[in-house]
Amino acid sequence: MSPTSDDRYLSSLQSDLVQLYRVLRDTCLTRGILIKITQGFRTEAEQQALWDQGRTRPGLVVTQARSAKDSPHGYGAAFDIVIFDGSKPSWEEPKMTPRYNQVGAIGEALGLEWGGRFPKADKPHFQLARWKDRFKR
Ligand SMILES: [Zn+2]
Repeated sequence: MSPTSDDRYLSSLQSDLVQLYRVLRDTCLTRGILIKITQGFRTEAEQQALWDQGRTRPGLVVTQARSAKDSPHGYGAAFDIVIFDGSKPSWEEPKMTPRYNQVGAIGEALGLEWGGRFPKADKPHFQLARWKDRFKR
């Protein structure tokens, strides 16, 4: 993951979400936490591949959204992050859990909705508040 890898994801996100991400990233940095985006806008084909995982293909179920249009990712209204453990990206539980919770709290303080609050917690996920009202029809 290169230092500029955020850029290709940011270009496909809603502009207010780009601003929120930058504040989130910079605030985390001041607390010694390095984050990167791993997913932003999701195409129909990408959503289909995720839907198939754990259903028609092996793996764990990772989404409840049948179509990209059922997910804020389908509107560029969400991003997923990873937190670095030293020089390597890590989702390891329980080791990294306190750091994901810390980033979640920072995101919520900025007004983002955090996937850590979902019934099926998705701690790397952040989305624009009221995205359905704004984008879904
Ligand atoms: Zn997500």
